[in-house]
Amino acid sequence: MVEVDDLRMHFGGIHAVDGASIRIAKSSITGLIGPNGAGKSTLFNVIAGHFAPTSGTVRLDGEDITGLPPHELFHKGLLRTFQTAHEFGTLTVRENLMMVPPGQPGETLWNAWFRPGAVRAREAMVRERADEVIDFLEIGHVAEEYAGNLSGGQKKLLELGRTMMVDAKIVFLDEVGAGVNRTLLRTIGDAIVRLNRERGYTFCLIEHDMDFIARLCDPVIVMAEGKVLAEGPPDVVRADEAVIEAYLGR
Ligand code: ADP
Ligand code: MG
Repeated sequence: MVEVDDLRMHFGGIHAVDGASIRIAKSSITGLIGPNGAGKSTLFNVIAGHFAPTSGTVRLDGEDITGLPPHELFHKGLLRTFQTAHEFGTLTVRENLMMVPPGQPGETLWNAWFRPGAVRAREAMVRERADEVIDFLEIGHVAEEYAGNLSGGQKKLLELGRTMMVDAKIVFLDEVGAGVNRTLLRTIGDAIVRLNRERGYTFCLIEHDMDFIARLCDPVIVMAEGKVLAEGPPDVVRADEAVIEAYLGR
């Protein structure tokens, strides 16, 4: 589904991504791991359109999407979450879910003036979808809570929820499990698996917790120093000499 070829992202003399090529298969949950500073987040940032790469290409379903801005990728079904959650703290969880980006009928001022019926119909549709997401993630007990009052883990769950408000094809998750307690981590993991199996979402996720990765992901791609070091099933990658060396240092 996603093909990244010989991608480079240089910031002056820093070669954050330095000739990385990866493949993300449709319907997979692909893991991306590697030591701090390996270039994982930068790779996500380039794929998701936050930076135009120094060189290299990114394709989605065969189409060259290199350097397209995030909102265009969003409309193609490519979404990402951030290492730090991006909730609106003074809105409730339900309201956060309902803040889906424009693009559907009823969104423009023109429509608000001249087609109020269409606006109301859309609002009802969005509300219904938010209810579905709240049910799916089992967060009904905090639906009317201000997002700013949620725990770190609940905020991550809300981020995942926001990707469900649109028809995503592929979702990139940057350390969705970081700083999350065990119970909530399991909930997030279960939600990812269900979205994958029941809604056909493809995922690529950066994560440090190897147990979490091993439980969810196949294949696992390992990055170090801006390059792909290894790729394969979790057990194989874990036993790889080069991977062990990259983690333990030389
Ligand atoms: P990871 O997510 O694997 O920990 P990053 O992609 O965040 O790694 O960072 C890779 C390298 O690129 C690091 O050396 C980091 O300091 C550098 N880097 C990341 N973003 C920028 C930026 N916007 N400007 C300059 N250097 C950056
Ligand atoms: Mg990172």
